[in-house]
Amino acid sequence: MADDVSEDQIDELARMVQRAARIVAFTGAGISTESGIPDFRSPGGFWTRFKPIEFADYLASEERRMEAWRRYFIIRDTFGDAKPGRGHQAIARLALMGKLTHVITQNIDDLHRASGLAPECIIELHGNGTYAKCLTCDIRYELEWVRSQIADVGKPPSCTSCGGLIKAATVSFGQPMPQEAMARARAAALDTDLFLAIGSSLQVAPAMGFPVLAKNGGARLVILNRDPTALDDFADLVINGDIGAVMSAVIARLARENESVVRNQPSPAGQSVSSGSSKA
Ligand code: NAD
Repeated sequence: MADDVSEDQIDELARMVQRAARIVAFTGAGISTESGIPDFRSPGGFWTRFKPIEFADYLASEERRMEAWRRYFIIRDTFGDAKPGRGHQAIARLALMGKLTHVITQNIDDLHRASGLAPECIIELHGNGTYAKCLTCDIRYELEWVRSQIADVGKPPSCTSCGGLIKAATVSFGQPMPQEAMARARAAALDTDLFLAIGSSLQVAPAMGFPVLAKNGGARLVILNRDPTALDDFADLVINGDIGAVMSAVIARLARENESVVRNQPSPAGQSVSSGSSKA
């Protein structure tokens, strides 16, 4: 096992998953670093080149809107080909096993959907950076269409239906949180028996609010993150390790256990079907 994660910790997490019926995963930027997308706070500094543009400034200034689009296209050109990592795949696997009900994600990279997770399982708290929307009527626009309009006209396009401002479908600083996503996230956090907080420093609300809500509602709380988080003392299990390595080890452990359960189940004729036993 990578890092300082012990086999006992993998066993314990696998046992918790095995016992749980309704798992909710809560993911942050750390789950996507394996896919080549830097997180926010770790050293490396990619995001320091992009001092956030406040929502109010986006609304007020065409120059700020042009700058926002310039940055979106740099980010798209740099990370647009990112593929889901082992953490995303493990979460999709938990859903296939009938264990996981929802992922609440702070990420905007769309990699949970790309991992095969059904859209109704995914709750995006900070929106989605792979397309754009009209801020007035919500119509969807593709980023490449916006890029070609800017190239042709030299300024950001308006909504072709209502004339409203178009913006990437992310939640910017100062922009209200999406009410429907927040309500779904609250409901999911209150209807889970195991809440897995994965790859988030859990430093700010509402990020840290959901693990607290779930735990206070009776769920067990697991935190998986390379570095300590603000909620470690509050959790039932903290694993400081690499997300891809830990989650794939947990899935492998669960698969081995399921195999041995199947092997040791009685056959329809009452015979054991343990491996290698075949009766002529
Ligand atoms: P964060 O940067 O504050 O925290 C990420 C945490 O993940 C860090 O504590 C880091 O130690 C840990 N980490 C990184 N790689 C890891 C790995 N391989 N294994 C284990 N742990 C790992 O991120 P946040 O809490 O999500 O908050 C930042 C905000 O910026 C969020 O809104 C986030 O969605 C957004 N953001 C999104 C993306 C994305 O969509 N991929 C990327 C950067 C920032």
